[in-house]
Amino acid sequence: MTRIAIILFGPPGAGKGTQARLLSRALGFPAISTGDILREAVAAGSDLGRTAKSHMESGGLVPDAVVDEIVKERLARQNCTRGFILDGYPRTIPQAEFISGLFAPGKLATVVVGIDVDDDVLLDRLSGRRICPGCRKMFHVRKSPSGAGDRCDECGTGLVLRPDDAEEVVRERLQVYHRNTKPLIDYYRARDQYSKVDGSGSVEAISECILGIVRKRQGAGAAGN
Ligand code: AMP
Repeated sequence: MTRIAIILFGPPGAGKGTQARLLSRALGFPAISTGDILREAVAAGSDLGRTAKSHMESGGLVPDAVVDEIVKERLARQNCTRGFILDGYPRTIPQAEFISGLFAPGKLATVVVGIDVDDDVLLDRLSGRRICPGCRKMFHVRKSPSGAGDRCDECGTGLVLRPDDAEEVVRERLQVYHRNTKPLIDYYRARDQYSKVDGSGSVEAISECILGIVRKRQGAGAAGN
């Protein structure tokens, strides 16, 4: 059986996490975020977390071999047999080659969607973002503040600024993105697997647009690995 890989692509703050969750709900595929998995490992103080911590806090990338292993382990799980959504992976060409090589030729239909947003908009979004460590709800200090001040209006936990959302770290993450990850667009374009959506619209409009691309590509028999 051919399984579908939906790879969400875009700079930090483009809304990949939100869109991955909506797609997961609509299609019934699990959403896998390497960033979330790494943050959990850092919080748990595991070996993986200790390896990843300094790279993440400086805004750089965690070594390919480390993230490749995480993804390989997740994709081997039973709930990924029809398809899966990747948020934040691959970020480098070797990572893209790694995932394609995990499946026999023709057994993975890859649909890559790039969410396109200007750097200035991203800087404002990320440095104003606050996250509830309790229930993961997200807020923005100006655009969508919590009804409970600096606490979560769902579960009451104190809201936090992710260390890598601090402005100078965001600038570094954007630079890293442009330098390392943009060549991936060319990589997937050359394989006819890449589509772009405008990331400045509403969450719902972007989600509809992405679902439209996925369905169209599914109907046309998406280009294989
Ligand atoms: P994210 O939440 O996807 O922005 O990821 C947060 C941080 O985790 C990144 O700035 C990287 O340090 C690290 N990270 C997440 N995914 C990857 C990946 N595929 N390759 C390397 N580092 C990653």
